[in-house]
Amino acid sequence: MSDQMDVEFKVPAIDFSKKGQGAVASHYAQSNTILQKHKMKITMDSYWAPDQSWWSKLMAMVFGEDEKSEKSLIGNTKGTFKEADIDAYGKEVDKLIDTFKSPGKISSFLFADFIEDVARYGPNRQLHGQAVRAKSKAKYQGKEAVFMDINAAGHVFVHELGHIIGGAGEEAEHTGAQGDPENIMYHQVQPGTDQTALTQAQINAFKTGIYATISKVKTAPPPAAAP
Ligand SMILES: [Zn+2]
Repeated sequence: MSDQMDVEFKVPAIDFSKKGQGAVASHYAQSNTILQKHKMKITMDSYWAPDQSWWSKLMAMVFGEDEKSEKSLIGNTKGTFKEADIDAYGKEVDKLIDTFKSPGKISSFLFADFIEDVARYGPNRQLHGQAVRAKSKAKYQGKEAVFMDINAAGHVFVHELGHIIGGAGEEAEHTGAQGDPENIMYHQVQPGTDQTALTQAQINAFKTGIYATISKVKTAPPPAAAP
């Protein structure tokens, strides 16, 4: 039995989608199909889906008893999330992330539907996920997490995580309109393409970032030599 080093990212799941752990696990599995080619993986470090009573407590914790019914940020029983609320309720988003934050891990929050901000960005745009990170918005002050639509395309989880595990350099950014449409960090979801490619620079950035940990993976022993 030989040991092989893998780079692991611990990603606890906080599931508001009401679609069950299997639906969440499938995003992890699809991500690992992409990452394993480069000896990386994500693990669902823990899974938590609030029941009604926990959800009410969380709402009160995040929004305060008086206000909770008036806010729309996860303040509904359908488990949906409005894009516009990330900006409208920055302080509450921070609190939500803080509540689940553990050192060295990237929390993932999953929602039944990520509702696009049509007023700001126009119609015909489908939002699959969003990385909340210190770098892009000063108000987050180091609070980082990924928010996912449970119905997102298969590569999107790695894309959103990439915005964080890619670190402070351009490897964490979109490849842009001129970039390779097959790259995981391409700026939009391209129907009909895989979008699972990673450049060597991206792989290096992921593996050397602050969230990367080394894990030993048992691999099958080599077949016995023929007599
Ligand atoms: Zn992106």
